[in-house]
Amino acid sequence: MADASTDLAHQIRKEAALLGFAAIGFSSQTPQPLALKRFTSMIQEKRHGEMSYMEQRIEERANPSMLLSGLHTIISTAISYNYSLKHQEGYPKISKYALIDDYHTVVKAKLEELLASIKRVLGEPLSALTTVDSSPLFEKNWAEKAGIGKTGKNTLLNVPSAGSYLFLGEILIDKEISSTKRPLPNYCGSCSNCLEHCPTGALVEPGKIDASKCISYLTVELKREFTTEEAAMIGDWVFGCDLCQEVCPYNQQASIMAHKSFVVRDELVNISTESILNLTKSGFRELFYGTPIFRIGLRRMKRNARAVAENLKRSGEL
Ligand code: SF4
Ligand code: SF4
Repeated sequence: MADASTDLAHQIRKEAALLGFAAIGFSSQTPQPLALKRFTSMIQEKRHGEMSYMEQRIEERANPSMLLSGLHTIISTAISYNYSLKHQEGYPKISKYALIDDYHTVVKAKLEELLASIKRVLGEPLSALTTVDSSPLFEKNWAEKAGIGKTGKNTLLNVPSAGSYLFLGEILIDKEISSTKRPLPNYCGSCSNCLEHCPTGALVEPGKIDASKCISYLTVELKREFTTEEAAMIGDWVFGCDLCQEVCPYNQQASIMAHKSFVVRDELVNISTESILNLTKSGFRELFYGTPIFRIGLRRMKRNARAVAENLKRSGEL
């Protein structure tokens, strides 16, 4: 017979499904030495590129109770943004997650709705923290522990029936919610499509990424100008890169598709490098405000567009 805590988990799952989450799971806060070891190796081996912020707040990553006093349960959620997209040859490519409203805003609002439902279900005061990519947390690790998905050779969390085009979000609470779900097994098997199709060799081995070689990092996170080599590496991707997800069979077979809040901004699909290079500050704001692209600013978007224009010209596509 289910105890009160697992019954609570069941009720919260129902609320999350009504709100359109693809998955939700619960883990109790315990030390995660393996996740910490993986993370510190990445820093020591300098695979985090120039993201120096990752070198900070490691103690909090290892011990999330520093983020919320009295923390008992980490609630991991995933919401899909998977939709079909056809890139036109000769045009710069933008990653799927950037052609829709910024997930920081949308997912945060969904988490706040979910938290309100949890409070209603609980019927008692609750101390909580909602976070979307904004707190130092081993979020894939907690999601795995909660049994909602498994990290694949492409280093991304894959959720059954939903694939990996997902935004993850967490709610930390000071109440105990237990769940009978167990971590899922590895699902990649003998497949290595993502490693074979990564154009820059950023997936240095299964499940291990060198961010400094990754197009997503170069076009989104890197703040300075490109070296000649980096400019060539980004190919035709002007913002982000989806290649290691596009080739994943679990994304091609996914039945859970994008949440209805994510509507593709058609005017951004197949935008030309010339249009980006001609943008004024106000034009950039008008076109990209509210998307993840707005966060990198016009200077970096033009840097990316210049490199892509050069790469397309060199490959004879422009
Ligand atoms: S996002 Fe692109 S560059 Fe980065 S690992 Fe995946 S395929 Fe490679
Ligand atoms: S492409 Fe294949 S190896 Fe890579 S994550 Fe998907 S299933 Fe795993």
